[in-house]
Amino acid sequence: MALNEGELLRVFQTIIDNLPSGVTLMDRDLRFVAWNSEIKELLNFPDELFDPDDPPHLSKVALFNAQRGEYGPGDPDEQARALVERAGKMLPHVFERTRPDGTVLEIRGRPLPNGGFVSIYTDMTERKRAEEEVRRTASFLQAVLDHLPFGMMVVDKAIRCRYWNRQSEALFDLPPGFVRQGIAMEEVLRQIARNGIYGPGDVEDHVARRLKIIGGFQAHAFELTRPDGRSLRIMGAPVMIEGEAEGLVLLQEDITEHKNYQATLERLATTDHLTGLLNRRAFLDATEREIRRAHRYGQPLALVMLDVDHFKRINDSHGHPAGDEVLRRIAATCRGMLRDGDLMGRLGGEEFAITLVQPPLQVASAVAERLRKAVSELGIEFGGERLAVTISLGIAEVGEGITSLDHLISRADACLYTAKREGRNRACVAGAAPPPGPA
Ligand code: GH3
Ligand code: MG
Ligand code: MG
Repeated sequence: MALNEGELLRVFQTIIDNLPSGVTLMDRDLRFVAWNSEIKELLNFPDELFDPDDPPHLSKVALFNAQRGEYGPGDPDEQARALVERAGKMLPHVFERTRPDGTVLEIRGRPLPNGGFVSIYTDMTERKRAEEEVRRTASFLQAVLDHLPFGMMVVDKAIRCRYWNRQSEALFDLPPGFVRQGIAMEEVLRQIARNGIYGPGDVEDHVARRLKIIGGFQAHAFELTRPDGRSLRIMGAPVMIEGEAEGLVLLQEDITEHKNYQATLERLATTDHLTGLLNRRAFLDATEREIRRAHRYGQPLALVMLDVDHFKRINDSHGHPAGDEVLRRIAATCRGMLRDGDLMGRLGGEEFAITLVQPPLQVASAVAERLRKAVSELGIEFGGERLAVTISLGIAEVGEGITSLDHLISRADACLYTAKREGRNRACVAGAAPPPGPA
């Protein structure tokens, strides 16, 4: 089907009338030959400018545009002249122009093989706005991530990093810029392992183990100690979309302060504030555990009850602070003479107890005797005076007839009472007496 020029132009007109962009066709003399209604609408051209019976020359349209400020500030005649000169070169071009009303146009021009020029004008305003919106949403999201009080990484189904924040980089000692959009998590894990965050051991072993956990897309949590001693809690939670795990959110929290605080609370809850020894509750709990262990392994265990002699007199004659100092010194002296595994607690007032783990009874009574002697030789200086103090001790051990803590305490207490009655400053050992109660 061979078409003549008139028919070709009608085909062209039909096509451009149905395009969503504005289109113009100029001949080689820059006179408009064809255009569609979309171009008039897009650029608000009056009908008379594009009169089909008197098609305009580019210079007329350019001047019209320049005069209404379409090309920005400047001399309209000069602007129009420059534009026509440029167009005369018939060079292909693509550029964007923002109109005075803010509309953004993409203008695409192509020379035709036999002379002439086609220009296509597309309204990019909505697409620009959408792109800008996407950019703003992304930077908003990043700002949110960077202000979270914990590190976060989001991994996709292919185990590549999608989102991360600065805290995450810092907690893992990753240099800024190392984590990139879409980087394989394996690479990130390898760097973290190299930084020593997963502790000593083979880097590839660490990487394989972590990858396996992440690749499971299951909720998980564990703790790590960084080389600098700080503690991290790592948590993973799957990103579920329509019932399928599409990724994993990994959170990292520095729990060092939390752990220190917890340790402080634990210490406060188990320590006697005056002497730093175990408090009553903590001592009894720990001793109970030691008794169970002694039973399990058939090992001996001895309890020493210790009471300061005539302590009331020290308070009465030297004051309460002097009494406190005496308690502190006795506690420190005795604790310092015990082995690490032994327990010492302040049961209350000027009464202490010691649990000796594993010694036979003779050894226990020798320990008690050493403590008695050491305290009697202390000669505590307070307020320019030397305070002479002594202690009395009662010793009992687990064994035949004595299995419970209560029983052990009452036996040792009974011996302590004997020591007091027999003149104080002495240690009394429970004999092989049968347990109290009807024989
Ligand atoms: P005994 O030789 O029979 O044990 O006589 P004692 O005076 O040591 O015994 P008593 O139980 O009569 O007195 C204990 C005193 O310990 C009474 C109490 O005011 C004092 N006390 C209890 N707790 C503290 C304390 O934390 N600091 C001081 N300074 N004194 C305390
Ligand atoms: Mg006393
Ligand atoms: Mg007492």
